[in-house]
Amino acid sequence: MRTVKFENISLPRLAFGSRRLPLNEDGTINVPMVEAMVDYAMEKGVNYFNTGYTFHRKKSEKIIASALSKYPRESYFLADSYPGYYGKEIREPEQIFEEQLEKCGVKYFDFYRLQNVYGRSFEAYSDLKLGIVDYFVEQRKKGRIKHLGFSTHGSPAIVEKFLDKFGSEMEFAQIEMNYACWALRQAEKKYELFTSRNLPIFIMEPMHGGKLSHLSPEDESVLKFCVPDRTPQEISFRWIESFKNVKMIISSMSSFNQLQQEVALFEKKDRLSSSEIKNVEKFASHLIKGISCDECGFCIENCPCSFDIPSIIDLYNDIKFSSLNKAVSAAIMLHDRFPGNNLHRCFHCGVCSLMCSRKIDIPKIIKEVSHMLEHYPELEDIMKLRNGSNEPDEDVAV
Ligand code: SF4
Ligand code: SF4
Repeated sequence: MRTVKFENISLPRLAFGSRRLPLNEDGTINVPMVEAMVDYAMEKGVNYFNTGYTFHRKKSEKIIASALSKYPRESYFLADSYPGYYGKEIREPEQIFEEQLEKCGVKYFDFYRLQNVYGRSFEAYSDLKLGIVDYFVEQRKKGRIKHLGFSTHGSPAIVEKFLDKFGSEMEFAQIEMNYACWALRQAEKKYELFTSRNLPIFIMEPMHGGKLSHLSPEDESVLKFCVPDRTPQEISFRWIESFKNVKMIISSMSSFNQLQQEVALFEKKDRLSSSEIKNVEKFASHLIKGISCDECGFCIENCPCSFDIPSIIDLYNDIKFSSLNKAVSAAIMLHDRFPGNNLHRCFHCGVCSLMCSRKIDIPKIIKEVSHMLEHYPELEDIMKLRNGSNEPDEDVAV
């Protein structure tokens, strides 16, 4: 397995994600299959295992740690996360952390992240009375966390605020990044932000929650035309690898076959040519089919409400692409970018559209997004409907 330097250690380029483990027909986790996959991963040098408190309704941590228990502790990296703050609930960091160590049967985590920095969780993370970040910094001092970082689906503006406060304590950032969400979910801005602050980047959802490996037959033939002789997986992984500051790619492993294919991809040293990269980006714009905004900002200048119209369009595109079937991500983005939904203040005067060289019907978009905000349930209600649990996912992709 190819490796990459992180501080004074070597990490595998491909990491084992446990967000979507293989399942039995009845929906339970196929534990013998997970064990076989962990063995194969270890044999091939994929020795970074990423789990999370909320994954698989809190079952992932125990199953992954148990599959690893026969290996010397120093032979693998175990990563876990603090489930942050969602809706009305703030979790006690000490209680969660002790529970995680006990469940995993370990004395320390190699990597630990504050889960999903976004509008709401930022308020909790930055509340000094709650002391969440201080608590985990203290655990690092005690050696119970080797490396501390965070993950985020939040906007670049929120992430920047978080870094202004806590950046000096953070050793890595974990974001969703693939060619589909590069522009669509502002991954590009976040990549640039982290790079400018010398923060190493770990990638989650390299296949956009599986969407990029399950393209429609029409889209797949367009992709084949754009980038011949490569599989959709290969294209996505190689595109991500073309970014210098990407250290590691965490892929959620759902089957033995997937693991074998991805290991084979990462064992080989290969890269996309510059013309292939350009074609991937052309394909991404074909795929997204969103409203094309140049982010010139002319529309904002005369808007009596000073709305951040390019951001609203960005969000609108994102939700349209997602078909709203990943409601949690969409809800997080909506609440993150427009807390309290002030979009209903729009006068529908149309001044913005008059200024727009692309003649985008901006008031119509504002109305639709505002409607979504009004009719979105709270996050915890969405999770109850979705999982029968109020545990939100971290590595959700739209
Ligand atoms: S229509 Fe709405 S968004 Fe556009 S300029 Fe008027 S108030 Fe602003
Ligand atoms: S004027 Fe049009 S193209 Fe420019 S930022 Fe506004 S919506 Fe986008």
